[in-house]
Amino acid sequence: MKSRTLAALSANSPIVQHEINRRDIGDADVALDIAFAGICHSDIHQVREEWGPAIFPMVPGHEIVGTVTAIGASVTKFKVGDRIGVGVFIDSCRACTSCLAGLQQYCEGGMTGTYNTLERDGKTVAYGGYSNNFVINQDYAVHIPGNLDLAGVAPLLCAGITLYSPLKKWGTKPGMTVGVMGLGGLGHMGVKFAHALGAEVTVFSHSASKKDDAIAMGATNFVCTSEIESLKPWHKKFDLVLNTVSADLEINSYLELLKLDATMVVIGLPGKPYKVNVGTLLNGRRRIAGSMIGGIDEMQEMLDFCGVHNIVSDVEVIKSDYVNIAYERTVASDVKYRFVIDASTI
Ligand code: NAP
Ligand code: ZN
Ligand code: ZN
Repeated sequence: MKSRTLAALSANSPIVQHEINRRDIGDADVALDIAFAGICHSDIHQVREEWGPAIFPMVPGHEIVGTVTAIGASVTKFKVGDRIGVGVFIDSCRACTSCLAGLQQYCEGGMTGTYNTLERDGKTVAYGGYSNNFVINQDYAVHIPGNLDLAGVAPLLCAGITLYSPLKKWGTKPGMTVGVMGLGGLGHMGVKFAHALGAEVTVFSHSASKKDDAIAMGATNFVCTSEIESLKPWHKKFDLVLNTVSADLEINSYLELLKLDATMVVIGLPGKPYKVNVGTLLNGRRRIAGSMIGGIDEMQEMLDFCGVHNIVSDVEVIKSDYVNIAYERTVASDVKYRFVIDASTI
């Protein structure tokens, strides 16, 4: 199947228009016309080889929404015309303990990413969603509630599920205090979900200008972190802190935010390891944990939750010729709060 895409032809080269061939639709696959694809900071990390050697040409994009245009002979989950979403992975081993528990993102054999990898046959290159069309096995795609605006849904497929999953795992409920570090694509979804789950939300941001937006999204408090001293009044105040920042941070100052037995969940992927002061963990039996996206059933649960609570991402819809500028603006923390590519312009 021929696809028009936006691709990086090498690390650090700009994103350009590029035609590729996708695999043909198999028995259990569906084909879709992509409507919108979100720009995740992980796309930038991978295009720029900040996470190690990558496969080029690379078509990034793992926040994909569109409409089903064709189905394979054995497909029962979708029909032509359905609104469909695809996230960060397109396959997994389906047999390990994690896969059987619906936690495909933690597949013991490794999940198959949506791009910058080979499919499970070991030879087909996986190309992502900065494109006009896509092919996906029905088991790894989700339904989109009819009441939600498609452009605002695209970021839910990565940014949304990545924050929803730890908020649910750590039992977010009314009465809890949740801190969100970084008000970018991921962080702003964390604010919306934590608020919808009834928690009191505090945003820790190094961009003072984001205060009004944070409050409008449901935060009660906004702490500007450009002076690290500003964290002090908030020490020992939080049941849960979600850390979406990938930049180098004074991590121990942020661990001080945790109450007794509370947890910081690390979600952003910093280039350098953190220097954790174990004394800060001992004092208060604090924990530091990680979390990565969410499984297929949980993605569907998250989208259904969004349908009920009318939650979508705050997006800036862009044309294909703006992607390189959008990358620069994202790196500069100047994103309000997710760039989404209108795929009809590719
Ligand atoms: P993003 O939109 O660029 O947001 C990151 C935010 O971090 C920025 O908006 C900024 O918020 C804050 N920040 C940036 N530089 C900072 C600095 N020098 N000091 C303090 N704060 C800084 O990125 P994203 O798409 O949300 O992704 C965030 C990270 O999560 C990336 O590393 C991405 O690869 C990773 N990720 C992880 C998963 C997972 O499954 N765990 C999934 C998707 C993405 P303020 O302006 O408010 O400070
Ligand atoms: Zn992502
Ligand atoms: Zn598995």
